[in-house]
Amino acid sequence: MLIVAAVALIDKTGCVLLSQRPEGKAHAGQWEFPGGKVEEGENVGEALIRELREELGIDTETSCLAPLAFNGEGDLLLLLYACRKYKGVPTPLEGQTLAWARPDEIFSYDLVPADKPLAAAVRDLLS
Ligand code: C5P
Repeated sequence: MLIVAAVALIDKTGCVLLSQRPEGKAHAGQWEFPGGKVEEGENVGEALIRELREELGIDTETSCLAPLAFNGEGDLLLLLYACRKYKGVPTPLEGQTLAWARPDEIFSYDLVPADKPLAAAVRDLLS
């Protein structure tokens, strides 16, 4: 099973960060909550902290990650955490495009299949 951890990163205005997958990757052009695979030997918190640093150049801590929702799709288990406290300004370090979405805008983005069922949980958290 592929375990993927992702973050609904929330800014001070109550918007959530979405990331558009770059050309050449699976689901190119679609949007997702930032994150990635939990690697062998890491726990979920460690994986998320690493992914946020690698993809966005921001730092957070396990205590700032709150479990929000999950979705099992075939062989993929996607675990979504909410995060409001982090250091740094999210920067697209891996060729992705970033967008801050208001709660009412989340559904207008073409989300990757595994993330779609989680959008309502994010909207409800922010509304
Ligand atoms: O980004 P990366 O290619 O490492 O992601 C691994 C897998 O997890 C991909 O298939 C990607 O589509 C999926 N993923 C996802 N939702 C996310 C992050 C990654 O479905 N929020």
